This record gives sequence, C-alpha cells and structure tokens, in this order.
Amino acid sequence: MLVLAVFVLGLLLGSFLNVCIYRLHRGESLITPPSRCPACGRRLRAGELIPVVSYLLQGRRCRGCSTPIHWRYPLVELLTGLLYVALYLYYPGVDFFLQAFLYSVLLVIAFIDLEHQIIPNRLVLLLGAFALLVQLLRPALPWGSALWGVLAGGGFLFLLAVVSRGGMGGGDVKLMAALGFWYGWQLTLLLLFLAFLLGGLTGIILLATGRKKRKDPVPFGPFLVLGAFIAGLWGEQILRWYLRW
Ligand SMILES: [Zn+2]
Repeated sequence: MLVLAVFVLGLLLGSFLNVCIYRLHRGESLITPPSRCPACGRRLRAGELIPVVSYLLQGRRCRGCSTPIHWRYPLVELLTGLLYVALYLYYPGVDFFLQAFLYSVLLVIAFIDLEHQIIPNRLVLLLGAFALLVQLLRPALPWGSALWGVLAGGGFLFLLAVVSRGGMGGGDVKLMAALGFWYGWQLTLLLLFLAFLLGGLTGIILLATGRKKRKDPVPFGPFLVLGAFIAGLWGEQILRWYLRW
C-alpha cells in the first residue's frame, strides 16, 4: 500500500520536475505563472494536470489548440514514479528522502542536457552543496574517499576535455566533480566506466542506424546520470563481484 503511495508521490513530483526541465534553462520562475500549454499559452485546468492520466485521456493533445503534447511529459512522470519506488525499496527512513532529492535533480539535469546539450551550473552547484551538507551532517563515507572522488570524477573528465578539445563539456566535468564527492572514488570509477560503456554502445547504435552522424554531438550527461543510478543502487555488489572474479 505504501509502495503505491510512493509511486503516486513520484508521479506528482515528476510533474514538477517537468516544469523544472522546461523552465530552468529559460531562466523562468518555477512557481509562477501556473502551468500553461507551451504552444497556445492557455492556462491548464486541474483536470489537465493529473500525471500521465491527463495525457492519455486527452488523446496526447492540448485541449485548447490540439498541438501534440511532448512524450517527455508522461515519460518523466512515469520514470520519477518508478524511481521513487526503487529508492523506497532500497533505502530506509531518511536515506530515502536524501536519495530521492539527489536523483530528482539528476533526472532534471539528464533531460535538460538531452534536449539542450547544456548542464545548468545552478543545478550542479545545488548538487555539490547538497552532497557537502549531507557529508557534514550524516557522513556515509570517509572524507578521504569523497575528496578523492572529486579528483577521480572531475579530474578525469577535465583531462579528457583538454585532450579532446571540447569533445567533453565543462558541464560534464563539474557534474562529475559533484558526483565524485557523493559517491567516493571507488563508485566514481565504476560510474565513469558504466557511463562510457553505455554512451559508447548508444553511439554505435545511433551511427549504425543512421540516426546520428559522426560529427553530431551526443550529450554525455544522461549517461553519467544512468551510471550514477546503477552505481548507487548496485555498485557495491558489482565491485564485490568484480574483486572476487
Ligand atoms: Zn495548447
């Protein structure tokens, strides 16, 4: 029963994350004005704001102007719902809320990067400050590991950015520095490995199916976020399995 409540909470917050994804990089306020259709500007009524359900009931279109609603909206809501259930099953008590905050910000970062090839500094700063605060109040790792994580994550991508001359963005470097602090150096190395593996495979698939050309930019942020999710939930098991092997 509680799992269902967590899922619904995730759907509702996912709806707010959609607002963040749409408005943050445009420099708009997250609170006012109330939600509008991006095509016709009509203010949405209560019945049109139910996560996923409204999208399906309205035939995936705006009720005012019939412009198709972007699939990103229900996807982000559904992803957030599932994410919260996964975190709820993995992390007891306060840790659930800490993890839910972390991954909510990461989800926003992934989708902004996917759409606009940019990782907003404000969000990375928020993550860094959050990681520092949690480490001060409720340390999950030794400080040494957290600081080496900054170097392993941020330092490695920084070197890559210098060598590749712009192939790796500054946003990715800063994001990895913040994540390195949160995860500590061991999980950070795993996170990077997973991100490069998933990013590489996706790149190959996109090239092979002709959906991208060799020179087209592919945002790396979403793969870092995916790697962070896997490393966060199953990293300890993967590392233990690897060391035994
Ligand atoms: Zn409309």
